Amino acid sequence: MRWTTAWTAAIVMAWGAGQAFGEPVKACEARTPAHIRAVDCQVATAFERALERSPSLRTLVDRIGEVKGIVYVTAPVNVTAKTTLIGGLFHQVVSAGETRILRIALAHESRYSDHSMAILGHELRHALEVLETPDARTEADVDALYGRIGYVRGGGIVETDPAVAIGHQVEKELIAARRGSKEN
Ligand SMILES: [Zn+2]
Repeated sequence: MRWTTAWTAAIVMAWGAGQAFGEPVKACEARTPAHIRAVDCQVATAFERALERSPSLRTLVDRIGEVKGIVYVTAPVNVTAKTTLIGGLFHQVVSAGETRILRIALAHESRYSDHSMAILGHELRHALEVLETPDARTEADVDALYGRIGYVRGGGIVETDPAVAIGHQVEKELIAARRGSKEN
């Protein structure tokens, strides 16, 4: 399993600014917080169920709302010919007054697993790292932030311990809740 993280500037360039933020699928019936916008209804549905089962994920999402973040969840891009990240936070930031908009990529799955939702939690923690830094308002600011708080894991991937920790915690809660509901 690979835990991935904040992407480097070189990777961010693959993301054309003009197509930055797609609109959520209108027909999707998943009820998720308005500030977390999955462009794929399957992601939104899995995320809704994950929020019901993971208190840590709910707390994290609430906090992102408190600091006026909007996070889009979209499909990933190939980082190199051989590598596709399973999740990552783009360093680009769109600022609109107090609101900052970030983008997370999450690898497509036909049925999003608890592990996939834990990866989303991990990446949302990275989003919060940016959002809790009030002066992180540009891509360069975010690069600088990760220069301060992150450590390089290789391949240009930057990691932080809190993101790793919450990913594991969310997965634990999701699995425990699943076991609990089977026993009831
Ligand atoms: Zn990470």
